[in-house]
Amino acid sequence: MQAIGVIGAGQMGAGIAQVSAAAGYRVLLGDVDQARAEAGKAGIAKRLNRDVEKGKIEAAARDRLLERIEPVASVSGMSACGLVIEAATEREPIKRAIFADVGKVLGHQAVLASNTSSIPITRLAQASPDPARFVGVHFFNPVPVMGLIEVIRGLATSDETVATVRTYAAALGKQVVQANDAPGFIVNRVLMPMLNEACFALGEGVATVRDIDLACQLGLNHPMGPLTLADFIGLDTCLEITRVLFEGSGDPKFRPAPLLVKYVEAGWYGRKTGRGFYDYSGSEPVPTR
Ligand code: NAD
Repeated sequence: MQAIGVIGAGQMGAGIAQVSAAAGYRVLLGDVDQARAEAGKAGIAKRLNRDVEKGKIEAAARDRLLERIEPVASVSGMSACGLVIEAATEREPIKRAIFADVGKVLGHQAVLASNTSSIPITRLAQASPDPARFVGVHFFNPVPVMGLIEVIRGLATSDETVATVRTYAAALGKQVVQANDAPGFIVNRVLMPMLNEACFALGEGVATVRDIDLACQLGLNHPMGPLTLADFIGLDTCLEITRVLFEGSGDPKFRPAPLLVKYVEAGWYGRKTGRGFYDYSGSEPVPTR
């Protein structure tokens, strides 16, 4: 089995490294330096230790999995990788610089993939060594738990490249959905307008936070209401993705709800700041409107 390179050892990169190693791949895990790469691996070990304590995984399986992950200081060792996945910070100049670096070492048959949530794949491909061997692989958080990968085809992505990442996804036991390169791909294209609409409904006084969430939970059989979910994702992230949909499509149906904009301006980003549509300062979240 060929090795996998993962660049960016944060939340997503560490998850991708973990599931790749669990599937039997050897993984080279890089970040800005060796220490960050090591920290990414340490985080994986910590989560696996908890799984061992809960009896979800054997200690020997944990050890074998961790042995397959090698933190690296640079991409130079990734020349032997058949697939390199970039999962670095969501800023285009950072990703472009990484692709230029990888371009110096990437094998002639190897595929370069990006886990970007919002940057057009066709545009990123222009900064890659070979646009035909460039593709989007959009994992979901937390990676070991979520069973889906969106594969996004840029204009120049070849059939062989798509086949390579489909084989990889199958080895991970993840389902693949395939999207063309359009803002929000599939999941965010469908989800974000719903969350944004819940913000419009709240802002227009249609119903309270509690009733909008309960209506969707019980009326639509959703595991959580849209305002709870927006708080969980982060209202800043929701606004950013909604803006990508709005600006990328030019369609006014995606315009961000004024109340969502106001909450972000107030620094009320949801769970991570202790306040969004709910107040998280007590033992239970309390609706704020
Ligand atoms: P994160 O902040 O947890 O991790 C990003 C990592 O990239 C950090 O460890 C950072 O040090 C590293 N990095 C920055 N510059 C680098 C460079 N030049 N070379 C190597 N590493 C570098 O972020 P994340 O949530 O893991 O997101 C990573 C990517 O995954 C982003 O493109 C994001 O849009 C995408 N994504 C995130 C989610 C999510 O729910 N968090 C879901 C799907 C996709």
